[in-house]
Amino acid sequence: MTDESISNKTNCIFCKIVRGEVPAEKVYEDKDTLAFLDIRPNNVGHTLVVPKEHYENTYSTPDNVLCAVIKTAKKVAVAVKKGTGADGINITNNNDSPAGQLIFHTHFHIVPRFTDDGFKHWPGKEVREDTLKEAAEKIRKSL
Ligand code: AMP
Ligand code: ZN
Repeated sequence: MTDESISNKTNCIFCKIVRGEVPAEKVYEDKDTLAFLDIRPNNVGHTLVVPKEHYENTYSTPDNVLCAVIKTAKKVAVAVKKGTGADGINITNNNDSPAGQLIFHTHFHIVPRFTDDGFKHWPGKEVREDTLKEAAEKIRKSL
């Protein structure tokens, strides 16, 4: 499958879920957003929140749509925590293949976390102060 075809809303699996063409365990829906269970959960209760409109990633999603998605993510995170009895919640969002994005329709993961569930934080790197300064300068210039 090419990048072009997976970013096409006709073929997009999440668009198909929104249109009801592919089954999903839906947990919440409003005018602009939908939340449904991930079929390969990190932990049971792992939920995905998507805009109903097709956008490839966070960068290309209009601010008003993104606000609606985050609002739903917050609501669903509270419900996932309560419903699963989780000890904590990760809200994550992958953009581009190198960052682990597999489905090119904007989505946020709501992952219930349990004490001793075995997942570890990504390791932090030891870096020099001037490396941080240089990185910050490049990012400021890119805004
Ligand atoms: P990402 O790597 O951030 O693009 O995450 C895509 C997620 O979508 C993965 O966690 C998959 O398990 C999940 N996924 C793929 N197809 C489906 C589907 N048909 N229904 C529910 N979740 C899905
Ligand atoms: Zn889509």
